Amino acid sequence: MDQVNLVVVRALESGATTTKAIIDATGLSRLKVDRALSALEKQKLVFRESQGSWALGIPVAPTVRQCGTCTLCCKVLEVTDLGKPVNTACKHIMSGGGCEIYAQRPRQCRTFSCAWLQGHFDDDWFPEKSGIVPHFGMDTLNIQVDIENPDRWREEPYYSKIVELSLNGIRMTAARPYATLVIVGDNKYMMLGRTIVPDPTLFGTAFVPLTLDTFQYWKAKSLEHLQRLNERVMEIQRIQQEFGYCAIPEDDDPQPPYRPALLELSKAQAATSAK
Ligand code: SF4
Ligand code: SF4
Repeated sequence: MDQVNLVVVRALESGATTTKAIIDATGLSRLKVDRALSALEKQKLVFRESQGSWALGIPVAPTVRQCGTCTLCCKVLEVTDLGKPVNTACKHIMSGGGCEIYAQRPRQCRTFSCAWLQGHFDDDWFPEKSGIVPHFGMDTLNIQVDIENPDRWREEPYYSKIVELSLNGIRMTAARPYATLVIVGDNKYMMLGRTIVPDPTLFGTAFVPLTLDTFQYWKAKSLEHLQRLNERVMEIQRIQQEFGYCAIPEDDDPQPPYRPALLELSKAQAATSAK
C-alpha cells in the first residue's frame, strides 16, 4: 500500500475519523489526505458513514467457532456508533453472554470477529479465558489486552506466540506483511520479534536485525524521516553483504550520504574490539 495511504489508515485505526482529525494526527496536507481517502474509498478500504465521518471497511471474515459466553470484545474495543469507549463494558451485554440488541447492533459490531473466532489461534487464546482479543486490521495484527490483566500478553503461551507472529509479519512468510501491535489501555507496543517498540508512530518504524529475533529500531516522525531511515537501513544491508559486517548506529536522524558515516563507524568499532 502507498505510504501516504498507510499513514491515513493508521490514523483511522488510532481513532481519527474526520478529515481534519486525520490532518491533525498526521501533519499531512489536506490535498494528500483527500487523495489518500479517495484512493482508499475506491478500493473499498474506507467508506463515509452517514454522519460524514470516515470508517475502515475491513471485510467481514468468516468465523469457524462460536463466541459462547465470551463478550470480551464488547468490553475492550471502542464502539463509536454507541459512544462506547475502550475497556468499558457495553450496556447491551446480557448476563451469561450475548447482545440484547443483536438484531439492531451497530455496523461495527456486525463486521467484527476476533482472530480466535476466525480460527487463527488455538484454544488457549479463547478471549474470555485469555483476557486478550486478537484481531486483524488493514495491515496489522492487533493484540488488544483487557486492562484488568494488563501484563497477560507477557505471559506464556501468549508471549511466544506474539513473538512468532510478529516475525512472520516482518519476514513476509504470511500472505502479506503486517505489523503486530499490542494495545493495553492507552499504551501501544509494536513487536519486532522479542524487541518491544513502545508508542510506535503513525509514520512507521525502520529496523534491522541484531539477532534472529531482536532488532535495532528507529521511529519515524514524518514520511520524509521514514524514507531517510529506510535508505540508511538499505545501505547497512548493502555493506553487510559486501564486507560481512556493518556497525549499527544508534542515532535516529541520518543524513545522506549514509555510506561514509557507516564505514567510519564500522572501522572505529572494529578497532575498539581488536584492542
Ligand atoms: S472476543 Fe471474539 S470470541 Fe469473544 S465475543 Fe468477541 S468475537 Fe466472540
Ligand atoms: S451492541 Fe451488542 S455486540 Fe455491540 S458491543 Fe454492545 S453488546 Fe457487543
